[in-house]
Amino acid sequence: LEDNIARAEGFIARFRADGVMNHIDGENVPALSGAQMETISPVDGAALAKVAKSGAEDIDRAAAAAKAAFPTWSKTPGAERRRILIKVAEAIEASADEIAFTECMDTGQALRFMSKAAIRGAANFRYFADQAPGAEDGEVTRTPTQMNTTSRRPIGPVGVITPWNTPFMLSTWKIAPALAAGCTVVHKPAEFSPMTAKLLVEIAEEAGLPKGVLNVVNGMGEDAGKRLTEHSDIKAIAFVGESRTGSMIMAQGAATLKRVHFELGGKNPVIVFDDADLERAVDAATFMIYSLNGERCTSSSRLLVQDTIYDEFTAKVAEVAKRIKVGHPLDPETVVGPLIHPEHEEKVLSYFDKARAEGATIAAGGEKVGDAGCFVAPTLFTHATNDMTIAQEEIFGPVLTAIPFKDEDEALTLANDVQYGLSAYLWTNDLGRAMRMTDELEAGMMWVNSENIRHLPTPFGGVKSSGIGRDGGDWSFDFYMETVNVSFPR
Ligand code: NAD
Repeated sequence: LEDNIARAEGFIARFRADGVMNHIDGENVPALSGAQMETISPVDGAALAKVAKSGAEDIDRAAAAAKAAFPTWSKTPGAERRRILIKVAEAIEASADEIAFTECMDTGQALRFMSKAAIRGAANFRYFADQAPGAEDGEVTRTPTQMNTTSRRPIGPVGVITPWNTPFMLSTWKIAPALAAGCTVVHKPAEFSPMTAKLLVEIAEEAGLPKGVLNVVNGMGEDAGKRLTEHSDIKAIAFVGESRTGSMIMAQGAATLKRVHFELGGKNPVIVFDDADLERAVDAATFMIYSLNGERCTSSSRLLVQDTIYDEFTAKVAEVAKRIKVGHPLDPETVVGPLIHPEHEEKVLSYFDKARAEGATIAAGGEKVGDAGCFVAPTLFTHATNDMTIAQEEIFGPVLTAIPFKDEDEALTLANDVQYGLSAYLWTNDLGRAMRMTDELEAGMMWVNSENIRHLPTPFGGVKSSGIGRDGGDWSFDFYMETVNVSFPR
């Protein structure tokens, strides 16, 4: 651990010394007003670095840079964009340790998971790089009197607004397809985790991405973020964050008829029938809520278990939860690190009181760990009902709410009785049941007898309050591009 801390300190020394500045048109720049905010360590609350606290004028400057870079980047042949973006992927891989250690310091996420974040970020760049040469392709349709050519072109400069959970990986998931499509980008990272966005733009430019194609502006959502969503030169906003922020962005973007893509909150069920492979189901259910601190949009935060196995299954989950190592994010043994920020920790802790008041049983955890830092014990609430706050609201921590059900009908009713619909996990060995259930579950993504395993060509996104639009495969390009049709007489 000591060695890892020393390495991490080495990586972030530059941010401690110079702060995290904006990156506009290839230049490191402070906020024009000179304003700064602070990013703090979730381990002990100590200041890590000063960060540019941008206002409207900084967004204007970044949007101007993205607008100026657009004509050249959008006309750069797809094969050349592919070449550059593959170089970016390689450079990300070469910087994997720096990215992982920096992310752990800034977010509190455990190294065992963050060590893979850069690899996945590189995979995102590689995948979309390979799609770049065909991004504009469309089709020709003919009638006796007309020939129609349908094709796509990049929509223009776009805004990308990201949250603080796994910020590096998530940013690449948005930025890589935008760049591959030929768009230029203004990225506004979350105020709680600004460091790795700066690394990404530097890595990308060193690998050959032209100046102004990707710009990063730090700041608060209500200032910098809001201005980005209102800017008339920004043609679309790809947003990942809370559902209520999505509503605000939709309203803010209305005047400029902004195209929006939303990946929002979740309260995802993992449904376990008594015919399932219970050992694997316990592993997957606990992994999907206690990995990444439960600060994960697709976390399985509601455990719906058939009543015939409810006591046995929840006892096993409680056992796993109690054994999980909570500790310093850079300790290789740590599974659950500190939550991102004291404000978020307070939110998560408030649900422990709510659970008690509502009459749920705390079968594991339910308390803060230690005095310093944002450490929270992996928690299991049992004997909950679906009308409880802990069953309805996204807690976004290592906190699982277990509810019993009798049969398929009841499982479906409970699973669908929330405002969210991002993902669902189903455990059963009855194929007919799996097909009936997945037909009716209100979720954008479902996994049968599996935890969340991503395959990049498949669609990612939610229904109901969990989002609008899909990422992955060609769906990403549909968002970052306009489809146009030209008709010729025959
Ligand atoms: P958040 O909505 O508070 O903030 C996200 C980003 O939006 C930040 O950069 C913030 O500065 C910015 N923002 C805030 N107000 C804004 C405004 N008025 N205009 C423009 N920008 C604004 O979310 P968070 O707390 O950082 O992240 C956690 C949330 O993200 C959870 O709800 C989680 O489920 C969700 N999330 C969803 C997915 C998904 O794929 N569906 C993935 C990861 C996280």
